[in-house]
Amino acid sequence: MSECKVCSAEMESNHRRYGAPSCNACAAFFQRSIKIHKEFVCENSDQCLIEPSKQGKQCLKCRFSKCLQMGMISREYIRAQKESTKLNSAEIVFARITDTLLTTSLHLSSYLKEYLENGNPEVMKISLELANNAKMDSVPERIELLASLFTKNPITQTEFAVFTNICLCKLEYSRISESEKEKIKALQNSAFQKLPISPIEGHRFLDLVILSSRFLEIFYANF
Ligand SMILES: [Zn+2]
Ligand SMILES: [Zn+2]
Repeated sequence: MSECKVCSAEMESNHRRYGAPSCNACAAFFQRSIKIHKEFVCENSDQCLIEPSKQGKQCLKCRFSKCLQMGMISREYIRAQKESTKLNSAEIVFARITDTLLTTSLHLSSYLKEYLENGNPEVMKISLELANNAKMDSVPERIELLASLFTKNPITQTEFAVFTNICLCKLEYSRISESEKEKIKALQNSAFQKLPISPIEGHRFLDLVILSSRFLEIFYANF
């Protein structure tokens, strides 16, 4: 005889259900709760099932957590998890545009200099074309990572325009000569000072600066 690791009910054998040693009832509970488990509420600070018990399993939330803790997993659960973290298309578009803009600027530093110095929009134009031509149904992992940053830190369209400029001013070149790097850095610094922050409140500008440095970290790490 062994015990269900969720509710302590006796089981005939050490059967694993959805990957955990549990009784049929708990396994069935797990599977049918996948779509609704986020609505479960515990009135006992999530402490009902520290140890497996019949009493504790009355709490739906703790019972579901215990199932997960004991290692229960199913295809439906994975699918539901993926769906609940689905990224908005707006966030993917933001991520894709910024990513393409930064990649293009790294490859065509002369265009970036032109843009920062004289406002020549060529680098913007090229990047937008590239971003538009990318297949929207295929989202590479890097874009997913970057888009999830926007999901956690939502920004408006107006802020996005400022955000991309901040990123361009903070973009770092690693594969060019020191003197060239210095020149670009100087242009970036003076462009950063001139950034129009008027449509945005001061504290939001700071938020965007912080967001841009996190964006760039992910960008470099996965470049
Ligand atoms: Zn059980
Ligand atoms: Zn509970």
